[in-house]
Amino acid sequence: ESKARGRGSWCFFESDMDERLAESLRLESALRQAVPRGELRLHYQPIYSCSTGRMTKAEALVRWENPQLGWVPPGRFIPAAEESSLILEVGQWILEEAIRQAAQWRAQPGLAPVVSINVSVRQFAQPGFESQVFALLERYGVPPACIELELTETLLASDQEDLPALLHRLHDAGVGLSLDDFGTGYSSLSYLSRFSLNTVKIDRSFVMGLQESSRNHSLVRAIISMAHSLHLNVVAEGVETWRQYEILKAEGCDYQQGYLLGRPMAADQLRAHPQVLAGEESNIPDAVI
Ligand code: C2E
Ligand code: MG
Ligand code: MG
Ligand code: MG
Repeated sequence: ESKARGRGSWCFFESDMDERLAESLRLESALRQAVPRGELRLHYQPIYSCSTGRMTKAEALVRWENPQLGWVPPGRFIPAAEESSLILEVGQWILEEAIRQAAQWRAQPGLAPVVSINVSVRQFAQPGFESQVFALLERYGVPPACIELELTETLLASDQEDLPALLHRLHDAGVGLSLDDFGTGYSSLSYLSRFSLNTVKIDRSFVMGLQESSRNHSLVRAIISMAHSLHLNVVAEGVETWRQYEILKAEGCDYQQGYLLGRPMAADQLRAHPQVLAGEESNIPDAVI
């Protein structure tokens, strides 16, 4: 009997594996069609300056809705795309769409946030990446300082020989460079000085425990003071409560992003979203109003 059960569970395990393989193949072949079929969209999440209360940046976050699979979160399909060269095509679409949107916002009165774009490691390692960025900025007439690229610690740890020089050229041209999810990866402090970065984004996991854990509070304080001493700006991500907002502001955090201040949303919804945080208007110098 136990043998039979053993065989049964083996069969179950096998079909489970088949199921997962089939699922990942389905995902990949569907994703291959996503760009040509126009199934990808970008949403934008507002990022507010703590000193002025203004929405000065917005992070572009990719969204995919497929007729068969439904809504597939980026945390699922970006890693799948990164396993093949698909990420290059998807990444190029994201880059162009984000820059196109930046141009459109600049052409309209009112809203013109710096658009922050997530770039994956393989995309960055691609030989033509730099010229792709500059060609798109030129084609859409967007000044380099109107975009920011979000890099991962994995990229900085990748030992790509020409990486410091490449980042330096982008930085020199005015493109903002920010280190995403700081504190979750290798977090080698030497990255912060070795590469030409503008901004460090404190990962949501540190912000989450800010109220309850004095340990997280100390870590956040240390990250902010370290970043500032290296002349880097700090963005806190995943801010969900006013208490977190107040603590981060008191610690000197420069920008905040999170569900409290706005979820990722379509570009035209962002236009209708508050440009200045309520209660922070008094901090804006008269000349700006
Ligand atoms: P990320 O770059 O760290 O983006 C922040 C993620 O946190 C987003 O999830 C955002 O919706 C979510 N988030 C923002 N505020 C809050 C909050 O207050 N609470 C909670 N619980 N979550 C919050 P999303 O859009 O699902 O993206 C997940 C990850 O997928 C991103 O993490 C990024 O690594 C990747 N990703 C998304 N869009 C792109 C893209 O266009 N290109 C690349 N290469 N990766 C992308
Ligand atoms: Mg990001
Ligand atoms: Mg992030
Ligand atoms: Mg994150």
